[in-house]
Amino acid sequence: MLDCAIIGGGPAGLTAGLYATRGGLKDVVMFEKGMPGGQITQSSEIENYPGFYQHGKTGMDFMDTWQEQCFAFGLKHRMEEVAAVRREGEHFVLDIPGKESISAKTVIMCTGSTPKRAGVKGENEFFGKGVSTCATCDGFFYRNKEVAVLGGGDTALEEAYYLSNICSKVYVIHRRDTFRAAPSTVDRVQRKENIELITNATVEEIVGDKTGVTGIDIRDAAGNISRLEVPGIFVFVGHNVNNSVLKDSAGNFICDINEQGQVIVDLNMHTSIEGLYAAGDMRINAPKQVVCAAGDGATAALQVISYIQEQA
Ligand SMILES: Cc1cc2nc3c(=O)[nH]c(=O)nc-3n(C[C@H](O)[C@H](O)[C@H](O)COP(=O)(O)OP(=O)(O)OC[C@H]3O[C@@H](n4cnc5c(N)ncnc54)[C@H](O)[C@@H]3O)c2cc1C
Repeated sequence: MLDCAIIGGGPAGLTAGLYATRGGLKDVVMFEKGMPGGQITQSSEIENYPGFYQHGKTGMDFMDTWQEQCFAFGLKHRMEEVAAVRREGEHFVLDIPGKESISAKTVIMCTGSTPKRAGVKGENEFFGKGVSTCATCDGFFYRNKEVAVLGGGDTALEEAYYLSNICSKVYVIHRRDTFRAAPSTVDRVQRKENIELITNATVEEIVGDKTGVTGIDIRDAAGNISRLEVPGIFVFVGHNVNNSVLKDSAGNFICDINEQGQVIVDLNMHTSIEGLYAAGDMRINAPKQVVCAAGDGATAALQVISYIQEQA
């Protein structure tokens, strides 16, 4: 029986593994379906992790040493996808397709979330070269420049507001004339002088050249297309939370989840089920930053150590 099973090997999972093993737990295994490192390994540059400021270093370079550090303290890694976690009596059982099930006293869920793409022509081609899904991560690269935001929900408008403090102008493109965001957020955005709302409009295509995005083609309600010359577009059309592991055979979640699919946790990263924790981008109110995911992982692991000591 494992002391702790960690599912997901991004910043949250790796940090949970480091703290759990260094804190004295003996049998800690991190299950990662791909290579450890998580989403940040897709990033061409990371500038906002405190203590790591090396111009031109990619997310992959950044995560390389994390694994080495964790494994040095005894974290075990299995390159496997966990299909489901079940509570059985006092412990948990992990189902891994084609393999024997694994029992664990505690589980830390760290499977992250994936930003949705809008499905616009040019979006995939220029992803990371002018197309972004994270204002906090990439907004600074467009300091004093004009950018566009695609979306009309809370995240889109809040991120547009964030960008308006860095960029010279922010165009928000939304397909309806009303916004799904909270009225107070809409009001704040409408009052910001360097945000222009372009409603009843869709993005037809993101265009660019070998340097990256150079503009976007916008279709208005009458079907006319015009080009907005911007070097960056931020797409905020929602996130898919990787929460399927927490579904039972009837399709019901084993712990409390909110309407966006995020796992509800308290400040200790504890879910509504004893011994089950969730850390990083998959939890409610996650800031979706590496530094925050790492902090969550550490918090969850420290709680697991106390929980196991109390049970002994
Ligand atoms: C292009 C890009 C640029 C970014 N730039 C920055 C930045 O500059 N600064 C910053 O702070 N943040 C940045 N972020 C955000 C940052 O990467 C995330 O906030 C962070 O990685 C979240 O960590 P996590 O551990 O919660 O989840 P993730 O990093 O998503 O890791 C989850 C891991 O779980 C694994 N997994 C999922 N399901 C299963 C399963 N069933 N079984 C086993 N394994 C599973 C996945 O393979 C993945 O490796 C960026 C993100 C992207 C995509």
